[in-house]
Amino acid sequence: MRSSLWLKLTFAFAGTAMFGVLLAAILIGRATSIEFGRYLEHGNSMGHMMASGMAAMMGVPEQAFLHAVRNALWVAGISAVAASAIMAIILSRQITAPLRRLSTAARHVAHGDLSVRVAHPGTNDKYKHGADEVGVLTNTFNSMVETLDRGQEMRRNLMADLAHEMSTPLAIMQSNLEGMLDGVVETSSANIASLQEEALLLSRLVKDLRTLSQVESGRLELHPEETDVGTVVSAVVKAAEPEARRKHINLSIEAAPNTPPALIDTDRITQVVGNLLSNALRYTSEDGWVKVGVGPYGQEGTAGKAVTISVADNGQGIGGKDLPHIFDRYYRGSQPRDRRGGGSGIGLAVVKELVEAHKGTVWAESTPGNGSTFFVTLPAVGG
Ligand code: ADP
Repeated sequence: MRSSLWLKLTFAFAGTAMFGVLLAAILIGRATSIEFGRYLEHGNSMGHMMASGMAAMMGVPEQAFLHAVRNALWVAGISAVAASAIMAIILSRQITAPLRRLSTAARHVAHGDLSVRVAHPGTNDKYKHGADEVGVLTNTFNSMVETLDRGQEMRRNLMADLAHEMSTPLAIMQSNLEGMLDGVVETSSANIASLQEEALLLSRLVKDLRTLSQVESGRLELHPEETDVGTVVSAVVKAAEPEARRKHINLSIEAAPNTPPALIDTDRITQVVGNLLSNALRYTSEDGWVKVGVGPYGQEGTAGKAVTISVADNGQGIGGKDLPHIFDRYYRGSQPRDRRGGGSGIGLAVVKELVEAHKGTVWAESTPGNGSTFFVTLPAVGG
């Protein structure tokens, strides 16, 4: 039944109040009669009149007094019962009304409407923090729906961004290949290299998506082996050289010779460095530089030995507002972008997941306008 809780509460409140009033009326009535009888007996020659009963001793004024007391008790009892019933109705309505609003809102959410919010009980301010349990429940419900709403919004944006990110390189590849077939575009190694770059971009995006879905389903597997990190990073830098040359960016690597080996999954660390390098090249303008470093340094305060990879650029940098969020899933900075536009906001999220799966740490330092440096620290073998 829709209003069963309301009815139960009303009956409970009103029933308790009525019981209290009834009990008080009976006890007061009895006590008054008994004490009044004793008083009368005391006033007459004691004892022998008992058998004739109290009524016989009472004159008109005494009977009027008892009558008035009983009447007063009735009036007080009925008024108290009426007042408690009204209070019970008001109170139970106050308790059940917000619960009814919550259940209506929950039904909307169940049908996919995430725009619904529940007004805070007893105030017009929807987001005020409630002091009582129903208020706390309302706030929790609202923040739960807000989180769901934000998640849905992010997923919607991600779909649109991914479609955009994928369609750009595909369109470039398609038009260039058509041009080559028609003999309009030269089949030179430079043109083929630029097509390969677009294909690499696409495969990196698909790989990142697969990694994120593995992380989300808890199926991310690592195959770690004792490896020289410098060799892995050098290979990634070498693969990025054509893109750096095309953008006239000076790309260099410096690997310290005394760097200890680390227990890493080569494929995954290649993905990590590839993402950092691709960002550095993307967010640095022509004639800039990107420096990659590998060395035996740990983050301040880390116990044992570590291997640190750094990727520094003198590009546009990251604003203080963006910096704490760049590793969040689907987060894209507010800085202006190059011809690629959008960006998917998953590259650094994947970096963070992979580094943490290696029990390492990743962080960024940046001065807007002066470039950024990303650091990845991995525990060294025997560290
Ligand atoms: P995407 O680059 O696809 O937007 P990422 O997760 O790789 O997604 O990066 C998140 C955000 O971090 C970017 O949108 C950008 O604002 C910022 N960012 C990452 N690397 C750099 C960099 N080297 N220089 C400036 N900004 C960067």
